Amino acid sequence: MKWGPVNPVRLLHKNWYGRRSPPWVFFRSEPPLSRVAYVNGRYLSRRDASVNIEDRGYQFADGVYELCEVREGRLIDERRHIERLRRSLNELKIAWPLAPSALAVVMRETIRRNRVYNGIVYVQVTRGVARRDHAFPPAGTPSSIVVTARSLDPAANERLAAEGIAVITVPDDRWSRVDIKTIALLPNVLAKQSARSQGAREAWLVDQEGRVTEGSSTNAWIVTTDGKVVTRPADNGILRGITRSVLIDALKVQGLVFEERAFSITEAHAAREAFVTAASQIVMPVVRIDGRLVGDGKPGPVATALRRDFHRHAEWA
Ligand code: PMP
Repeated sequence: MKWGPVNPVRLLHKNWYGRRSPPWVFFRSEPPLSRVAYVNGRYLSRRDASVNIEDRGYQFADGVYELCEVREGRLIDERRHIERLRRSLNELKIAWPLAPSALAVVMRETIRRNRVYNGIVYVQVTRGVARRDHAFPPAGTPSSIVVTARSLDPAANERLAAEGIAVITVPDDRWSRVDIKTIALLPNVLAKQSARSQGAREAWLVDQEGRVTEGSSTNAWIVTTDGKVVTRPADNGILRGITRSVLIDALKVQGLVFEERAFSITEAHAAREAFVTAASQIVMPVVRIDGRLVGDGKPGPVATALRRDFHRHAEWA
């Protein structure tokens, strides 16, 4: 244990096990808060962690990422996330920066060093560092990797889910390969910002036929007035969310009627329930779409039950 004077500013921040330090703690009894990132083979303090200005992630958004939930110190659906990372890398012809088995160790070590019990681990791989030229760098240029982890407050997430979130809709003006989980997220960034500036949590993207594709960082779902659970097929128009895949298994087990088809924004406005899914939020009820209440404006029973049961169907590693 390290003993020493406490920085008064730190008393205002949550400590590593998610509680505020009581003001009578005049000596530090918890581990230091400094966060750690894994960058190309080294664990660095976040203050010192940086990438080369010629990294192709920085220059061209030429890279991919994964985000995996950490729950009670365990990785949720790690296997599926690593499989999707493999697919993203293959589609873009980016080499593995290290063996998948080594990546599994690095993810756990990053979680450990950041003392994450509930939160997320983030992995980003880019095509590496090379003189700026649009075409691929010379063969053998190593890809770059960054792994970070941070805690999320499960209670805050539960409070949000108990209230439900508002979404707005915006045109989906992304490229045609959104099935690849690339770090090129500018349309998603702009969509999310539109949502935030209108007091909503998420933006649903709408295709040229007026049908919802997905959220800016989530998959989109509705429950129709006759109780069918609907989400868009995972073609090239959406990212095949891991939470989405697990949930499809879960709702079949629960005997719910599932329809994998596109739904219109008009249908969404008339839906009995709506929700979004993502690894960082699991199932998050949507209670307002473009300012109109969904159902009675409260999280619905289907979304609530799926949220409650999700982790029974997920893989814990
Ligand atoms: N769609 C988009 C555009 C996303 O960014 C995400 C989250 N990364 C998802 C869907 C949900 O995917 P997952 O369930 O694997 O987190």
